[in-house]
Amino acid sequence: MSSTLTLRIAHLYPELLNLYGDSGNILVLRKRMEWRGISCEVQEVHLDDHPSFADVDIAFIGGGSDREQRIVCDRLLSVRNELAAFVEDGGVLGAVCGGYQLLGHSYLMGDEEVRGLSLVDLYTDRGSPRLIGNIAVQSRISAQPVVGYENHGGRTHLGSGVEPMGRVLHGHGNDGVSGEEGCLYKNVVGTYVHGPLLPKNPGVADYLIARAMERRYATSELEPLDDAMELAANKAMFDRLMADEGKEL
Ligand code: GLN
Repeated sequence: MSSTLTLRIAHLYPELLNLYGDSGNILVLRKRMEWRGISCEVQEVHLDDHPSFADVDIAFIGGGSDREQRIVCDRLLSVRNELAAFVEDGGVLGAVCGGYQLLGHSYLMGDEEVRGLSLVDLYTDRGSPRLIGNIAVQSRISAQPVVGYENHGGRTHLGSGVEPMGRVLHGHGNDGVSGEEGCLYKNVVGTYVHGPLLPKNPGVADYLIARAMERRYATSELEPLDDAMELAANKAMFDRLMADEGKEL
């Protein structure tokens, strides 16, 4: 593949939204592009920046505590229209946990409401207890089950037309009861899966890269990579969780 191909990532508020190694997702995207001869430019968006998404291919928002979500929410709302235009135009947006919650209309914490971006028809309210532990999800965007770690007080409720990212095989997911995890909307992937998400889930990483390639270069075909290590890590985690599942039955 010609090295003139370039994809640009906008990493939003990495200094605040970086729970459980979420920034590692950016490293994975970069390496998987570079291994294929696609150059990758990463722009970190900080609190005082007013980014444009005109040249961006993949935007990424990590997870954060309730406190950090309160801090970024006003900033995010100030770029809401640009982000909405990006999403509606098929821009790729990956969002994890606290970032995922902010894609929706609101995050209700008791009497307090953190306003979200309303990019996807969903909302979150806080419940008890926190939903904590390892998680495995079956998703159409990955040939392997998506594995990782979740820790959230929020329960996310999807609007009727919104597709979940997948079905919970082990763990809690969106609300601990629906069996649904995350959301898919256009080229947006929202999920509670930290870990970080992408190192052990190369299928999800390539889904994001392929969608960005399709939009920018009209090709979604990606050169296969040797994922032996990643797939072994994925399988080790999945087998462990399924063995636990057996014990819980
Ligand atoms: N603060 C949010 C919650 O507890 C998100 C946490 C996270 O990003 N892990 O629900």
